[in-house]
Amino acid sequence: RLWVTAQALHGHAMVYGTLVVVRDATREHLARQAGNDFVAHVSHELKSPLNVIGMYGEMLADAGESDPAIRVEAINVIQDEVERMSSLVNNLLNVSKLEMGSMRPERHRVKLDDLLRDASQQARARAEAKGIRLELQMARDIAAVSVDKDLFRIALNNLLNNAIKYNKPGGNVVLAADEADGDVVVAVRDSGIGMAPEDRARVTEKFFRVRETGPDQRGGHGLGLYLANQIVELHHGRLTIDSEPGHGSVFSIHLKKMPALAEGAHVL
Ligand code: ADP
Repeated sequence: RLWVTAQALHGHAMVYGTLVVVRDATREHLARQAGNDFVAHVSHELKSPLNVIGMYGEMLADAGESDPAIRVEAINVIQDEVERMSSLVNNLLNVSKLEMGSMRPERHRVKLDDLLRDASQQARARAEAKGIRLELQMARDIAAVSVDKDLFRIALNNLLNNAIKYNKPGGNVVLAADEADGDVVVAVRDSGIGMAPEDRARVTEKFFRVRETGPDQRGGHGLGLYLANQIVELHHGRLTIDSEPGHGSVFSIHLKKMPALAEGAHVL
């Protein structure tokens, strides 16, 4: 901060002007730096799977026909890398929509049953490929909520993907839905690595990742929970997180339940 005060000459000192120049150079520098880091980070994140895909593509072309083991391995690796890349690109597109203010939920009255069944079925295939069991526990006749189905699916998928990714071998994931205190609560529970309270408090910040140590590095971009939390807030809901390091986590989406329809009423 720079304060410049001008005074009149000729004896009687009179303050006749105050100019305040506030230039937060540090913040500007950090923003520029963050922008550069971001481009470098994203380029790297896209480049490394592309290299791997290129390498395994060549292997497939050279030996895929004569060696079935190589064929299977190459196809698996390529599919995994494509999944990672498309998850990053999707999250980036959604973050940019969110920040440009063009992510406007089109909310409708929705009974979550079918949506949760579909989401759990899709996630189950991904979980089982990693030796993790996924279970759906849905209370009977849960109230309707007002949601944008596409956005809600993005939030839920990010939670389910994390519950699988940050799990342990032989672990499990439960997707549960119930009512509590006038809310519909959709919870994703896992028996995974959990997180410390100071990390739990920050995981919904953009680009925040818990520092990974040891050989078991999972990789990621720190956008999934930021998006999930923003989407829940766009629905005037709450995302709560319980976690115990080494034992697992519970991510719960709380949404106001809608009043039941009068008998004979129809939703158009
Ligand atoms: P990413 O997984 O791409 O790093 P997220 O925004 O989805 O980004 O998650 C932010 C961080 O929160 C992760 O890096 C991870 O450390 C932590 N985290 C998210 N979900 C879980 C979970 N189910 N169990 C333990 N840690 C988690």
